[in-house]
Amino acid sequence: MATINLQISGLCKRYGDFVALAPTDLDVAQGEFLTLLGPSGSGKTTLLSLIAGLAQADGGLIRINGVDVTDGAPYDRDIGMVFQNYALFPHMTVAENIAFPLQMRKVDATSAKKRVAEALEMVHLPHVAGRYPRELSGGQQQRIALARCMVYRPSIILMDEPLGALDKKLRDHMQLEIKRIHRDLGTTIIYVTHDQEEAMTMSDRICLMDAGKIAQLGTPADLYFRPKNVFVADFLGESNLLDAQVTSREGDQVRLAMQGIDKGRAMVYDAQVQSGKPVKLMLRPQNLRVNGHAEAGAETMSAKLTDIMVTGGMTKLYMQRQQQNAEAAELVASFPTDRLGARYEIGQTLTLSWSPADAVAIAG
Ligand code: ATP
Repeated sequence: MATINLQISGLCKRYGDFVALAPTDLDVAQGEFLTLLGPSGSGKTTLLSLIAGLAQADGGLIRINGVDVTDGAPYDRDIGMVFQNYALFPHMTVAENIAFPLQMRKVDATSAKKRVAEALEMVHLPHVAGRYPRELSGGQQQRIALARCMVYRPSIILMDEPLGALDKKLRDHMQLEIKRIHRDLGTTIIYVTHDQEEAMTMSDRICLMDAGKIAQLGTPADLYFRPKNVFVADFLGESNLLDAQVTSREGDQVRLAMQGIDKGRAMVYDAQVQSGKPVKLMLRPQNLRVNGHAEAGAETMSAKLTDIMVTGGMTKLYMQRQQQNAEAAELVASFPTDRLGARYEIGQTLTLSWSPADAVAIAG
């Protein structure tokens, strides 16, 4: 069992009558990379601010390495923070910026110099020690902000949208850099983002928030392949959600009644999915095979092609499935773009097939 670094129990926060964070429990293991993900206003920053001690909780407990810090000051919490705006001191050189937290902690000058040099090595920027922040690119400034946080070796580093100000390419690069530093340091990182791809790339676990509550907590694969509800399925990547009715349940599989599909089957990961109840059948776009040779045991349906989108490496087909007495359901299938190019025509009826092992029944 991994050592618990951060333990949160019953933590809550209100602003007047508005509940920004409903009573929440969360354990974070030593060395874990945990991402708080969710739409705007879901409570990510509120939770991070409570952990940091920048906001006061209305109830509940926060323990860091077993010590109750709920009412402790931010500087007593063994925590470092990195924000979106790098917050470097403009009148200090890079080396002075990084040395600052060590001076505050009265680390002697010789050790401080050594630790500043180590921190600069860690972020691969030893050559910029004498420069001022304005002489650095955005990505370099963010790496220095990270070095300034790492240098005093806090047991937890909190990052609030640290890459939000960077362009896409630099953000991708910095994601890898932060992962590398996390691996090398072994520090616990709690990371806030509203970008689901970033969360999937970086995290050991994702804590997906919705309206001040945890919607699901688990590995990226758990949330992507075994979403607990429609909100989770929709938030992480694209998904096709079809209306269905559970006719019988056999262990972790169900049989489904669906329009136009006589014997639908799907996997179940949630106790809420029961016989006789309406559910959504979730199919990820990459699990739909288009006009191919359906494997034995595969299920099929037909849909009309409404749009084709080539997004670099992936091609997406948008379709509509006509349903009796109901609105047409929108569907999307995706596959790697190949040299064959356009072989589908808008308006064409396509046959889609999938393996029941890739279909998931979610409580509707
Ligand atoms: P974003 O991605 O936009 O930063 P978030 O998930 O971090 O969103 P929070 O900043 O935690 O969301 O805010 C949660 C809710 O609490 C929001 O509805 C917000 O308006 C509200 N809120 C946050 N701070 C205050 C405050 N000081 N006074 C009143 N309401 C607040």
